[in-house]
Parts: sequence; structure tokens; C-alpha cells
Amino acid sequence: MPVNVLSYAAVSATEPLRPYRFDRRDPRRDDVVIDILYCGVCHSDLHAARNDWGWTSYPIVPGHEIIGRVTAVGAQVSRFKVGDMVGVGCMVDSCGVCAACGQGHQQHCLEGATFTYGGADRIDGSPTQGGYSEKITVKQEYVLRIPDGLDPKGAAPLLCAGITTWSPLKNYHAGPGTRVAVVGLGGLGHMAIKLAKAMGAEVTLLTRSPGKEDDARRLGADHVVLSSDPARMAAVAGRFNLIIDTVPYVHDLNPYIPTLAFKGTLVLVGYLGPLEPALDSAPMVMGSKVVAGSLIGGIPATQEMLDFCGRHGIVSDVEVIGMPDINDAYERLLKSDVKYRFVIDMATLRAAA
Ligand code: NAP
Ligand code: ZN
Repeated sequence: MPVNVLSYAAVSATEPLRPYRFDRRDPRRDDVVIDILYCGVCHSDLHAARNDWGWTSYPIVPGHEIIGRVTAVGAQVSRFKVGDMVGVGCMVDSCGVCAACGQGHQQHCLEGATFTYGGADRIDGSPTQGGYSEKITVKQEYVLRIPDGLDPKGAAPLLCAGITTWSPLKNYHAGPGTRVAVVGLGGLGHMAIKLAKAMGAEVTLLTRSPGKEDDARRLGADHVVLSSDPARMAAVAGRFNLIIDTVPYVHDLNPYIPTLAFKGTLVLVGYLGPLEPALDSAPMVMGSKVVAGSLIGGIPATQEMLDFCGRHGIVSDVEVIGMPDINDAYERLLKSDVKYRFVIDMATLRAAA
């Protein structure tokens, strides 16, 4: 029998999120049913709720940083048992057989990955709904193991903010002897600092917020540069092998390119859209520099990242909120007023309805 669950949903781009009931499917043979304990609040949830990307259909239940306990498993589930602490990130399915899936890059599934919310179930076509809800039912291949000893609320943001910054750090070989800069100290940015530092890189935060310097150092940054100060930016010219840019809105990339070392790469993970003002190609050509993009990470990489965090004791710095606080949290996100990830305590959901 499908199970009716309580959630918080956006019903239009302009109204606050509010309580919403819908059915989770009857578990299939390879499904894991999860009671959600915590769900992180990603800036992508806000983009989706407000239709910033133009593809949202309503109602939509955001949330793709999900931590919970397994309460039931389908007959063919071998990887999980009732009681396990597990995670679900941005994807819940993909074709499983294309070239991208075959290499473990399910986020780039050539048929299109099925995202945790805003997607369509590959079997019955029903809309996928995310983690701002009591329970979720997910195919076992898309469920992650949470290492023992990681605080579950701090681990929730690893499922998106963690893997999204882990991917470019790994793919561009951050480690001892490399210099990594992170643009923007929010949810993704603070995970990028922690992960890059644990990988052994020298880490610099480039921020427009002067008040974040002490926190950045506590999180692991070796240096902090106020990006709005041309003199301080000039002082780091030619310095970075890798820049991870987490800024969610259109912004001028031109001041960052000169801070790349030759053959250095700036990876955009935050903003999706046309760049304004136009990008001057001259410093890129003259320095053989690259501007790239990166999308979350595949399931094997996500498990690898979680296991790395387990070994290094890395979790997110979180501010736990109740479900009814979500609309205030979105307003605070827009003001960059979060240290450094909101995480919803799902026990507050039922009380809120
Ligand atoms: P967040 O917590 O709101 O942090 C963004 C940070 O960017 C802010 O703390 C701020 O840092 C800086 N910033 C914000 N607005 C800015 C502006 N107008 N100009 C310059 N800097 C600005 O957001 P998040 O959850 O980390 O997400 C960041 C972005 O990544 C979002 O757009 C999200 O949708 C996207 N995302 C992408 C992927 C992917 O796979 N590529 C995955 C997850 C999220 P300072 O105050 O330090 O400057
Ligand atoms: Zn996210």
C-alpha cells in the first residue's frame, strides 16, 4: 500500500512553503523505505521553489540532503537492513546502463538522471518529491551508507554540498602542493574549505563578506581575501591551481581569472546561466586557463566522499531549524546569513502540521 506522508511544499513561485500531503509508493523489490531524521537546506531548494531555473512544476517538495533510518526493505534488497543510518542525495535513479552510468557518473545519465525532487519516477511517471517530508522510498543503488560516528545532522549536507565540492577537488587533483581558492562562504563554500584542507591543499577563501574571516580560518582556510578589494585580489595574481566558485547568482568572473596560475581552472558550481559581464578571453588564452562547470557527483564518488569524511571526522557546521522556520531560512539564505547550513529536524514536521 502506498503510504501517505506529510511534507512541506512550494505551491507557487511566490507563496511560502506550507504543509502538504502526498503518497510515497509501495516499496518495490529493490526499494529502501527511510524515516527522514534530518534534511539540509541547499540554495538549490530555494532556486527550485522559486522557479529560478524555469523548470519547476508545483507542488514541489524540496530537499536533497537527506539522512534517516531504514524502516523497511524490498525482497531483493541486499545492501541495507532495517535500522541502518542512510543518506539520499540529489538523485534517486538513472538508466544504469549508458556510458555515463557505466562509469559511475549517474548524474550525467545519457537518458537524464532522475533527481530527488522535480523529476519523474522512471517506472510510474509520478513526480519525485524530496526530503522536506516524513519518509522517502528509494531504489537501493541510490542510497548511501553513513559511516559510524558521523553526527547525522552534520552529515546531511554532505549529500549535496559535500559531493558537489568533492567532485571538482578530486577531478582537478587538489592535494599537497596545490593551491585551492573557494569563492563564497556558504553551504558549499564551507564544505569546500573543509574537504580541500583535509586533502592537504593550501586553501584560500575569496569572499565579499569581511565578517567571515575568523570563521573561514576556523574551518581550515589558510588565507582570506576580500574579493571586492582590487588591491588584495592583485596580491594573489597567478596563485591558484583551482578555484571553486559557489556564488548562486550572476557575477563578474573577470576579477578571478588573473588569480589563477597558468593552466589553472575555475570551476563554476553555483551559477547556471549566461555570464555577465562578458568573460575576457585574453587572460585565459595567455595563461592557458580553463573555466569549467561541475554537477554534484556520481554514487560511487558520493560514497567515497562520505567514507573520507568518516575517516577525517568531517561534517557540516549546521544551524538546526524546525520545519515551520523554512520560509525564514530561505530569506536568510538570500542574505548569506547562515553558519553554514540550515538543517531541518524532521521531528518538528508533525508538530507543525
Ligand atoms: P549559500 O549557502 O547561499 O552560499 C552562497 C555564498 O555565495 C554566500 O554565502 C556568499 O558568500 C556568496 N554570494 C551569495 N550571493 C552572492 C552574490 N550575489 N555575489 C557574490 N557572492 C555571493 O548557497 P549554497 O547552498 O552553497 O549553494 C551555492 C550555489 O550552488 C547555489 O546556486 C546552488 O543552487 C548551487 N549548487 C550547485 C550544485 C552543482 O551540482 N553544481 C549542487 C548544489 C548547489 P560570501 O558572503 O562569502 O561572499
Ligand atoms: Zn543541493
